[in-house]
Amino acid sequence: MSSENYLHRLCPVCQKNTPSTLEVCSEKKGEDTNYEELIPYWNGFFKEKIFFSYARCSDCKLLFAPIFYQPNQLEALYGQMPPNMDLVPMAALLNTQKGYFEVLKRFSKLENGYIEVGPDIGVFTVNCRQYGNFDSYWLCEPNKLVAEALSKTVDGKPFKIIEEMFGFDAIPHQSASVAVMIQVLDHLLDPVATLSELKGKLLPQAKLLLVTHNEQSLLRRIVNWRWPAFCLQHPQIYSPHSITNLLNKAGYEVNTIERTKNYFEFSFLLKHLLWALGFKVKSVPKFLNFTIRLKLGNMITIATPR
Ligand SMILES: [Zn+2]
Repeated sequence: MSSENYLHRLCPVCQKNTPSTLEVCSEKKGEDTNYEELIPYWNGFFKEKIFFSYARCSDCKLLFAPIFYQPNQLEALYGQMPPNMDLVPMAALLNTQKGYFEVLKRFSKLENGYIEVGPDIGVFTVNCRQYGNFDSYWLCEPNKLVAEALSKTVDGKPFKIIEEMFGFDAIPHQSASVAVMIQVLDHLLDPVATLSELKGKLLPQAKLLLVTHNEQSLLRRIVNWRWPAFCLQHPQIYSPHSITNLLNKAGYEVNTIERTKNYFEFSFLLKHLLWALGFKVKSVPKFLNFTIRLKLGNMITIATPR
């Protein structure tokens, strides 16, 4: 009944009517709940879990939500969201992103133009500015609150902050040797269109860096439907297999796919794990406040235009 107000989607990689099998759903389903009734669930991590059910495409193996928000509904929901990034402590975040940069460095000379979608204050970008030799920075970041901090990150080099998440029009054709999208691709209704358009801005040997969740990860298997990546903000979630199919469809060749190491304060992680398992603790002891490094359900993909 409620699903009439939502978008009915084909597999976003195959873009045709392929057979799919329902695989993951919450107790109360997103597609059975009114748009208005769902709004409180959009931002909250520590509330009853509701998401749009995920099905697996039998052709490309992508896990995607066949019923999901309409583009205008998404725009409204993202518009009312408070700025993020305050959940994970900054030192842990910097270490995690430094690890992503080390992977990029193995594949790229770090020169010519640089494109990043959703850099926030520049926790990844800072590595490129410090260790790279890029001649221009194109930073697609709609959040005006972070513009000043982001500008400081790339200070001294030519840069442009584009206030649209996918405002690629401003970027010169075939000018960049690196494009970065960290935790962006899981959110897109049409990832093939976005990656294809981005390809036009890249030089022939350019490297695309993607960080996404991995629905084939151990963590997902342990916590099953309670895995935090199953949420209202993700119209699909990738695996190494399905992201390869996506990239091929959008005109890229995969160079590598690796599990990422994430740095966490142990107490932060323990609290989230307990919540995911249904133990609603308020806090954990302070002595558990040390930093650890884990491979926790994310993957990094490097690809080249074909
Ligand atoms: Zn498919």
